[in-house]
Amino acid sequence: MTRAIALHDIRAGRERIAGKILATPTVLSPSLTDRTGHPVHLKLEHHQTTGAFKLRGASNAIAALSPQERSRGVVAASTGNHGRALAHAAKLEGMRAVICMSRLVPENKLDAIRRLGADIRIVGNSQDDAQREVDRLVAEEGLVMLPPFDHPDIIAGQGTLGLEIMEQVPDAASVLVPLSGGGLASGVAAAVKGVSPSTKVIGISMARGAAMKASLDAGRPVQVEELPTLADSLGGGIGLDNRLTLAMCRDLLDDVILLSEDEIAAGIRHAYEQEREIVEGAGAVGIGALLAAKIRPSGPTVLILSGRNIDMALHRRIVCGEEPSTAERAA
Ligand SMILES: *Cc1c(COP(=O)(O)O)cnc(C)c1O
Repeated sequence: MTRAIALHDIRAGRERIAGKILATPTVLSPSLTDRTGHPVHLKLEHHQTTGAFKLRGASNAIAALSPQERSRGVVAASTGNHGRALAHAAKLEGMRAVICMSRLVPENKLDAIRRLGADIRIVGNSQDDAQREVDRLVAEEGLVMLPPFDHPDIIAGQGTLGLEIMEQVPDAASVLVPLSGGGLASGVAAAVKGVSPSTKVIGISMARGAAMKASLDAGRPVQVEELPTLADSLGGGIGLDNRLTLAMCRDLLDDVILLSEDEIAAGIRHAYEQEREIVEGAGAVGIGALLAAKIRPSGPTVLILSGRNIDMALHRRIVCGEEPSTAERAA
């Protein structure tokens, strides 16, 4: 069985990144607890520095580089949050960072990366187009690629979130994880099941372009069309040469479920109105899944609110009930 990243890698990562990331709190949600009849805990990871969990993996991967690699600088393709995390972590170490993004990446995420002093390249209409530019920079300029999910140090860094969850909610029956390339889900599942093998870990993606779900169903990495979605951080493929996360998600996830744009919007609204939390679409899928009753808790449940980097004008429209009409109509 492929278990490329084990509990001890995640524990080592945790020591490496201590002091560079926030250990985020977990709080009980009274509204979701009432609604489901089981304790529902929110892991407030959207309060992480840079606004998303991605800083865990990026910090761990940068900390593991050799002095020679540091001097070359790092490069990555990103839907926004990985790029921002990498730019932040590289800046702390005084390293060069180049972030390659497709035109689908929202302006607010671009601005944040620019402010951190990273070099930005906008290329094409998909993560795959951005990745081709990364490959070119690695070949021609010698930069070190730190990909957003398919890398052992990235996965181990994201897994530190799972260790915190099991300390904060030791009796968790299930943990709900937003799922795109699967770095978060692989790391969290390895940590959670390493500590508590009977705890279920369930991945949640948007129905519009769920590459990991399609790949799990096919038993190999498949390409899906990348479509605009409220959960923009969940867009992009898993890489046709995926090495780690497909096998880890296959072996470790108990289920994967998909949400419509309306269900994601409902999650964002509920987070705001009931929990007083601003989350981006990707961070709201756990709430959306419970509200839609696509997941029915059987005991204490933990939802990861994975990020909050949403365009605030879009957030206002969603809270006012004006979205996601366009995206849904196009579907
Ligand atoms: C990247 C990201 C995800 C998905 O993480 P993967 O490791 O690609 O599965 C979920 N939520 C947010 C906010 C993200 O930035």
